[in-house]
Amino acid sequence: MRAVVVNKEGTGIEVTEKTVRPLEYGEALVDVEFCGVCHTDLHVAKSDFGNVAGRVLGHEGIGVVKELGPGVKSLKIGDRVSIAWFFEGCGSCEYCNTGRETLCRKVKNAGYSVDGGMAQECIVTADYAVKVPEGLDPAQASSITCAGVTTYAAIKAANLKPGQWIALYGAGGLGNLAVQYAKKVFGAHVIAIDINDDKLDLAKKVGADVVLNAKNVDAPKWIQENVGGAHSAVVTAVSKVAFNNAIDSVRAAGKVVAVGLPSETMDVSIVKCVLDGIEIIGSLVGTRKDLEEAFQFGAEGLVVPVVETRPIDDAYEIFDRMEKGTITGRLVIDMKK
Ligand SMILES: [Zn+2]
Ligand SMILES: [Zn+2]
Repeated sequence: MRAVVVNKEGTGIEVTEKTVRPLEYGEALVDVEFCGVCHTDLHVAKSDFGNVAGRVLGHEGIGVVKELGPGVKSLKIGDRVSIAWFFEGCGSCEYCNTGRETLCRKVKNAGYSVDGGMAQECIVTADYAVKVPEGLDPAQASSITCAGVTTYAAIKAANLKPGQWIALYGAGGLGNLAVQYAKKVFGAHVIAIDINDDKLDLAKKVGADVVLNAKNVDAPKWIQENVGGAHSAVVTAVSKVAFNNAIDSVRAAGKVVAVGLPSETMDVSIVKCVLDGIEIIGSLVGTRKDLEEAFQFGAEGLVVPVVETRPIDDAYEIFDRMEKGTITGRLVIDMKK
């Protein structure tokens, strides 16, 4: 089968041939239909989290179960399921048992510590593969598997209430989904901030009330002056400046949820943090339950991921564009092409 893997040098990707091993207890084999390309795939390919040469990338995989290993009770052949970054937890630790399974210290991550969904076939741990509901397009579902659930869980972490203002820093692959969940599911007023007009146009189209280009506007100043500060901010932008601006954009008792992963530190004024009661929260993808909910809002048409499908051989170009930051919406690899 064909697969997109981390190249031998650990500096980028390679499209190659691979064979899948036999199934073990509790595993299922998935015939992959689509896999979205996420910024995290680029981090893995470039060895930012350590060199995993040869690893099949991808954690926005969607496919149909075609074979079951021994002991599988939660899936049947023909089920459409996800291959997500949260691939498997230990199932017995403090985090796994208290609804915070993505923080499991023995977690396995698709496309990083185990082979992921950017291949024509993928082995999943059956109990951790989340079913895709009827009526949700599989290419769109791929985008919800990481970008969607990550922003949905981040907005949940912000404890956003209807009618509140949220500032969303970054209007790219995650940001445009964040806009939709914040607006259509949580009933909030949404301000999207980016430095790319194309991404802001998309944010506006999918429901942002206000869009600000941080190249031309002092976003924190605008937000403080016009809405009295946001109740919360979610930062998906891979930029230290965005994180710092987010802290300056919230009102007292505001929450700043960190999602993007720039390899830098943010500058937090301790005085502001204490006097204004600001909370800074890290949010990592979402649990199986979060993904089930995020999928359902997609199936109901409240959230419509903007995706463009491409054949496997376009992977090189896609990763190139990901690095340059020129992708609006999500590029999804069609594993059948
Ligand atoms: Zn991702
Ligand atoms: Zn655990």
